[in-house]
Amino acid sequence: MKTERLIPKFVDSVPDELEDGVLYISMEYGTVLHKCCCGCGSEVNTPLSPASWSLKYDGKHITLSPSIGNWSFQCQSHYWIKKNKVVWAEKWTASEIFQVREQDVEDLEEHYDKKRVGKKKKTKRLRKFKFLNWLY
Ligand SMILES: [Zn+2]
Repeated sequence: MKTERLIPKFVDSVPDELEDGVLYISMEYGTVLHKCCCGCGSEVNTPLSPASWSLKYDGKHITLSPSIGNWSFQCQSHYWIKKNKVVWAEKWTASEIFQVREQDVEDLEEHYDKKRVGKKKKTKRLRKFKFLNWLY
């Protein structure tokens, strides 16, 4: 079952068994632990540091940033923890990623085509102008 909410729990030491739906915060170890919110049972360790995760605590709610992408787990779940709530990210399928990439390529081609078309028009107009000049 998917976890929709997490209860923050400040701990001195990391427990051997993590409970579902609990966000364990260890200031001593500078890390946050929880069980993957998809319900697969994997333990997610998000170390706190300027280069990894940061934690915001308003006295009741925890917000972790950036998002948690469990790419190394089989579930590959991806979510944010915002004010104790689990906000699920849309899972991108391989074809979606492919489509976005294709679109990028198309945009790029269009961009260059426009440039090319613009040049062609310009030279045509110039030629016409010269031809008219010659006539008069
Ligand atoms: Zn999972």
